[in-house]
Formats: sequence, C-alpha cells, structure tokens
Amino acid sequence: MATQETVDHKYVYDFAEGNKDLKDLLGGKGANLAEMTNLGLPVPPGFTITTEACQAYLATGREPDGLAGQIEAHLESLERGMGRRLGDPHDPLLVSVRSGAKFSMPGMMETVLNVGLNDRSVVGLAAQAGGNERFAWDSYRRLIQMFGKTVCEVPGEEFEHALDEAKRARGTTNDLDLDADDLRGLVDAYKKIFLKHTGRDFPQEPREQLDLAIRAVFESWNAERAVLYRRQERIPADLGTAVNVVAMVFGNLGPDSGTGVAFTRDPASGAQGIYGDYLANAQGEDVVAGIRNTVPLQELERLDKRSYDELLGIMARLEGHYRDLCDIEFTIERGKLWMLQTRVGKRTAAAAFVIAGQLVDEGLIDLDEALHRVNGAQLAQLMFPRFQLDHDFEPVAKGVGASPGAASGKVVFTSARAVELAAEGEAVILVRRETNPDDLNGMIAAQGILTSRGGKTSHAAVVARGMGKTCVSGADEIDVNVPAKRFSVAGQTVNEGDVVSIDGTTGKVYLGEVPVMPSEVVRYFEGTLDPDEADDALVKAVHRIMTHADAARRLAVRANADTGEDAARARRFGAQGIGLCRTEHMFLGDRRELVERLILARTDTERSDVLAALLPLQRDDFVEIFREMDGLPVTVRLIDPPLHEFLPPLEQLAVDVAVAQERGEDVAKEEALLAAVRRMHEENPMLGLRGVRLGLVIPGLFAMQVRAIAEAAVRVTREGGSACPEIMVPLVGAVQELETVRAEAEKIIAEVVGDSGVEVLIGTMIEVPRAALTAGQIAEAAQFFSFGTNDLTQMGWGFSRDDVEGAFFWRYLELGIFGISPFESIDRDGVGRLVRIAAEEGRAARPELKLGVCGEHGGDPESVHFFHSVGLDYVSCSPFRVPVARLEAGRAAVETVGSDSR
Ligand code: PEP
Ligand code: MG
Repeated sequence: MATQETVDHKYVYDFAEGNKDLKDLLGGKGANLAEMTNLGLPVPPGFTITTEACQAYLATGREPDGLAGQIEAHLESLERGMGRRLGDPHDPLLVSVRSGAKFSMPGMMETVLNVGLNDRSVVGLAAQAGGNERFAWDSYRRLIQMFGKTVCEVPGEEFEHALDEAKRARGTTNDLDLDADDLRGLVDAYKKIFLKHTGRDFPQEPREQLDLAIRAVFESWNAERAVLYRRQERIPADLGTAVNVVAMVFGNLGPDSGTGVAFTRDPASGAQGIYGDYLANAQGEDVVAGIRNTVPLQELERLDKRSYDELLGIMARLEGHYRDLCDIEFTIERGKLWMLQTRVGKRTAAAAFVIAGQLVDEGLIDLDEALHRVNGAQLAQLMFPRFQLDHDFEPVAKGVGASPGAASGKVVFTSARAVELAAEGEAVILVRRETNPDDLNGMIAAQGILTSRGGKTSHAAVVARGMGKTCVSGADEIDVNVPAKRFSVAGQTVNEGDVVSIDGTTGKVYLGEVPVMPSEVVRYFEGTLDPDEADDALVKAVHRIMTHADAARRLAVRANADTGEDAARARRFGAQGIGLCRTEHMFLGDRRELVERLILARTDTERSDVLAALLPLQRDDFVEIFREMDGLPVTVRLIDPPLHEFLPPLEQLAVDVAVAQERGEDVAKEEALLAAVRRMHEENPMLGLRGVRLGLVIPGLFAMQVRAIAEAAVRVTREGGSACPEIMVPLVGAVQELETVRAEAEKIIAEVVGDSGVEVLIGTMIEVPRAALTAGQIAEAAQFFSFGTNDLTQMGWGFSRDDVEGAFFWRYLELGIFGISPFESIDRDGVGRLVRIAAEEGRAARPELKLGVCGEHGGDPESVHFFHSVGLDYVSCSPFRVPVARLEAGRAAVETVGSDSR
C-alpha cells in the first residue's frame, strides 16, 4: 500500500537531493546549497521547501496537503543527522528559515534565524556553547526581534529603541559591550513589546515557531517591497519563493567566530582578486545591513589563516564549477568554516563585460557564451556620461565605489522625499547611513545613492548594482542626521535640497554639480577611442564582444534619423542604413508658413505654388541624408501626422482673433486660418486624416515628396555618391491605398531617375491591424514592409499612445495585466502575432519582400529577440540604441544554453 508520503506531491527536498539546475523548484539559494552539498563543501545540513508549496499556499491561503508531514519527516532526519532535537532544552538544534526565489531579490523577503530557542533551550544553548551565556541570550533576543518583525509585523523600531536603551544604560554604542545580564533584560523587554503588539506571548513551542516562520517567508513573496522590486527587475509575479530550513551555525560565538560575504572577482569593475567583507563575532544579517563597519576579507588571513585558505580554495573551486563570478556568504564558528550560500553573483554592467572577456581568456567559456553573459541593458548603462576628468572640484569624502556611474542631484534623506522630488522632475541623491529594503522606492526614484556605512556588499551596494544605479557606500567622513535633514562633512553642512555629485567608480563625493563627458564606451563607438590603444579593460572587452555580436547576428540594424547629423551619428554607431526618416519635422520652423498656405490654398494653382516652393527645401534635406548614408539604404516616410498639427492651437487662435477684432484690426487672414483649423479639427486625430489618407486627399503633396527624394538621389549619384532610397507610405490599411500612391510615385520616379542608375523602392508601413491581416494582398504592391509597432500597439490594444501610460498603466502593472508597458516591449501574444502573420503572409505573396521594424520596439532588447525569431531582416531604432540592438541581435542569434544573465 502506498504511504501518504508517496501519494503526496513532493514539496520538500533534502540538500543532498537537489542541484543547481533546479532553481525553478528550489529557488536560487536552495539549488545552490544543494549543489555545494553535492560538491562535498561544508554546508550545514538542511532542506528546501519548494516554490510550488509557496505557490499553493499563496493561491489558497493554507499549506498544501502533505506539506506538514514532509516537513516533519525531513526535520526528523535533520535531527538524526545532527544528533540534536529542535529546541531541546539541554542541547537544542536551532535552524534558520530563509527565503530564496529563482531570481535573487536581495533583502526583499524574509529570514528568521535561531528558530528553536525559548526560555528553556536558551539555557541549554549557553551550556552547549561552553557556558557562553552572552551568546545564548544574544541569539534569543535576535530570534524574538526577527520573528516579531517578520512573522508578527511588530514594528522593528520598537526593538531597535529597546536595544539603544540597553546600550545607553550600559554607556556604550556598541552592542558587543552588552553582557549576558543586559541581554537577558533585553529579552524581557522584547517579549513585552511582542505581547503588546500581538496580544500573545512569544511562542515557546519550537515547531510552532518553525511553521509560523515558514508561512511568513511564503507571505513575504507578496510584501510591498518585493512586489515593487519584481516590477523593477521584471521578475514574473507568480514564481513564489522556496524556503530553506538550515541547521544554525554561529558566527557570534566569540572572536574566533564571524561571518562574511565575498566575491570571486570585483563585482564593480570585474578585476580579478578577492573581494569581500568580514565581521568578527556577528551573525549574517549584521553584514548586509551595514550595522557595524566590516573589515576587508583580506584581514581574515591574519585572524584565522586556516579558514582563510580553505575559503580561497572553495572560491576558486566554485568559480571553476560555475564558470562565472560567484558570490558567497559564509560563517566561521569557532574556527570551522561553513558555506551558507553561493550564487552566480550580480555585477555591474562594466564588470559583466570585463568578466565575460576574462572567462574567454581563461578558457572557461567561448565567445558565444560570453555574448550570452552580457545584455543590451548593461551596454546602455555603459553609454551614460561620466564626470569630466579635468574638473576643478575637490572631493569632500571618499567611500566605496559600489556601483559605477556619475550622478548629481539634490540631497534627500528619505525615500518618500526622493519619490516626491523625482515626481517633480528633480534629480535627487538619496543619502542614508545605510539603506534597508524599505528604501527601495527612493532608490528607484534617485539618480544615485550615498551611504555613510557599509561596504561593497551592503544592501545599498547590492541593490544599486542590480538596478544599474550609481552608488557610493560607506563614505564614513559623512555624518548623516536624518531627522535634521542634513549631513556634515569636512566641516561643512549639506542640507536637503543642496546639490552633490557622486562618482560610483572612484567612490568620491563632491559638493555641487560636476560636469560630465561622454563615457569611454561612447567614445569607442564614435570612433574617437581605439580599442587597441585604450588601456581600459572595459573598452577592449566591449569591442571584442561587439565584434562577435556583429559577426553572429542575422538581423541588420538601422537607425531612425531625420537629419544629416543624426544620420552621421547613427552611422558611427554602426547603423547599416536608415529605417525611418520621418519627414514631418521638415515642415516646421520657418517652413510653417508655407504649410499654412498649403492648407489655406483655395485653388490648384495656389497649392502647386506652395508645393513648388517646398520642393527644393525637401530635396536639400534628402541630399544631406543621402550623402551621409552613402551606399546604405534610407527609408524615407512620406508625411504622416494630421496637417492641423502644423497650425496654431484652436483655442489660442480663437482668442487672438477675438482680441484683434475687438481692437478693430484687419484679421481676414487670421479668420481664414481659424476657419481652417475649425474645419480640420478632429475628435480623434490619431484615427483621422493622416498618413496615406492625407496623401490621397491633398493633391500633389506626396508627389512633391517623391519628386524631392528622387531628385536628391539623382543629384548625390551624379556627384559620385550612392543613394539607395526606399519610399515608405504610412498608415496603409488596404492595398488599394498603396496602389494609388504607388502608381503616381512610379511615374514621377521614372521621369526623374531616367538613366541615372538610381533605384527607388516603394514599400509601406504595417501599422494598422488591417494591414497586418491583409499583408498577403498588400505585399503585391510593396517591395518592403516596415512594422510601425507604435501605432500597431496603439490600434491593436486601442490604447491612445499619448495618454494611457500616464493615465492608468500603473494599475495594469500593479494588477499584473502586463509586466511592462506594451509600448516599451512588444506584446508578443497580441501585437507580436499581427507582426508574425504579416511577415508570413507577406513573404508567401512576395518571397523577396524586405521586412523591418521602425517602432520604438526596434531598440528594446526583449523585442529584438522577438523580431529575430519572426524572421525580420532588420530593426531600426534611435541612433543611441543602435549598439544595444546590435548586441541583442547577436545574442538572439547565438541564443544557447548558458547561465541566466539576469
Ligand atoms: C510607428 O507607428 O511605430 C512609427 C514608427 O511611426 P510613428 O511613431 O511616427 O507613428
Ligand atoms: Mg506610426
């Protein structure tokens, strides 16, 4: 007969049963603890409760059937292995209960240490620790504090106040100066706080403590800050967290114990070496919380050489095993090293490139994998400006360069104020002694983060690096006074609202706004920095990986550029053509008057006069662009927006006319203009007279543009250059629209081009859903399609692109209806399906049909992968996004196994 255990779904895995590839089920922490266990590394024994158990709990509000029994069985086996029982009064086994989702969410969810301690086992623990009462009572007070805060939502400040009070009574500021009696008193105080807030005594039953802690970890998946972090990092909302129950080892047993975090390479720069922080006589959360200042890991060599050597050996082994930078957490209990965590570590954008290059050199990975290890978002970060080298500012403080970048902004001291000022469009620098997970909102809103405590592994540093925010941590010359909203440094006082600049690479802090310059990476892309000569490891690594991406990618990358200057920049950044030259800006400025005349024209002659005046101006515009793009294709889109956009706003004009009439002035011209504006007014201009519709309604308008394009191409060719124009008709929904425009255009082209050898293609945007759905017909009349995914998204969803993002997307994001705005990243299932259908049906009708995309999505990393997968020929994006699109197109082409670059 099957036992209950075998009938039940398996929700609990011993560390020996898992491995690093089971992150979906066991979370990152659990999977890696299992991996280390199986590598024979010193991991305290324990087990992992799966993410499926969490998902079931969150769906139903109760533990799934069978979970309690499986926990019981695994706990018993843990107790057997350790030779101790949970909370035994004489010789207690204590456990930690730790969250661990598939993707690391530093500090966002909960951990409870020392579970199993109560009024009786605290005595046993002291005895077991060789009569170390101080240690036992310190551990107990930590349990009540963490359990109270995490499981029962007791406000954390109350415990902190009580701790401050105990230190004050003892005349110290260091918690290490509190003795066993002080801590015993503190436990009493904590229990009272617990009772006051929960209406019950602190639970003495160890198993109840364990069950409640597990439940609290499950629930912390949906804590506000975790939800916010997931949204920021685009982590799916339905993954749930695993829970790790691990036998406690103690770093707070005395000076021969301690705890630390380390990286196998510098997560900020990628430089090889040992990076980490160590804190003697402490438990893990003290390091990450930045409560006490840590010492560099190298100090451990002096303090405990044996553990240090063992740690270095393990770190080298982990790097080789994971073939990547690893970060680790460890504890030393009375000279015995224990590994508490490892994972492929988060790193800055610069470090990601540098490390990928190093690992290729070391033969650990190949170039395809190196390409997979970096991403477009990181490259975009590296293109942000940095501080000028020759500025006259003197630093007022220096901390740890925790997350690089150059940030200037107004000083704020609270997360709320950061959010407030950022909403008003101000750049702010969030200044704290140290951050904690509740500061997440402010960190997202700020340009940069400055703390006076904590090292490279403090909360601020880890989270800022994950977000790509500039951060200087541990600038201890700065004395932060949050209630007074000021900090003092080098004899000066800096108040809220004063401007400071922080350099996340050097760790330097300046008063005032330090001027910025283009980053090295931009200089490299612009061709002003030769990678072979640069002594910068980053530029060399970027060059190497970009070269590989360019060789690997199938998608071409073009740019959206409307001027010669933009075209030139795009070309320097590696654009292989222009995918969208919008012509509307060519009707603005001092040409507005001509456009007004065009709109007001009452006769054909008046209209053709204006068009004749516009023709040479347009021709010059195109000549400039064709010259810059010599030999590369340039897609010119005929005018798209409604003409009234070129006229003055209705209300303003009406007021001006009324005032002028009142004064008795001659307003015949203005009245005619007003009448035209009224006539052209549309309730839904985005769905009105624009694009091809305009071309069909205003005689001669498109014809003038076509002629200007063809004449410009002929001129550039006659000069000895090479122009490859592609004329693109916007907003087509039916093949008949395109056929009509095309018939007229072909006549003009034939007439202008003659025997010059210029070839002009005619194609269309696919940006109206009907066009996508009738692509087979439209392809009969088009030599190319370019997907206008901005309008396709607008019309596919029925979302006004000008209004909805500000109006209600926040609610849609909150509800998880989508994880990211569909205007930012292509909605694969809906709008993407339209693209796929149009690509397939268009190609079926005309196999040589050229396919591209020119909506904003062309520069979005995720979307580039989609466009690769549907077989487009190119993506087109703004010039600054061109390198990002090149990289992502390369990544899409080599998409293989390999580690997750998140
Ligand atoms: C589009 O709709 O995606 C597009 C590129 O055109 P525009 O943004 O100019 O409407
Ligand atoms: Mg459009």
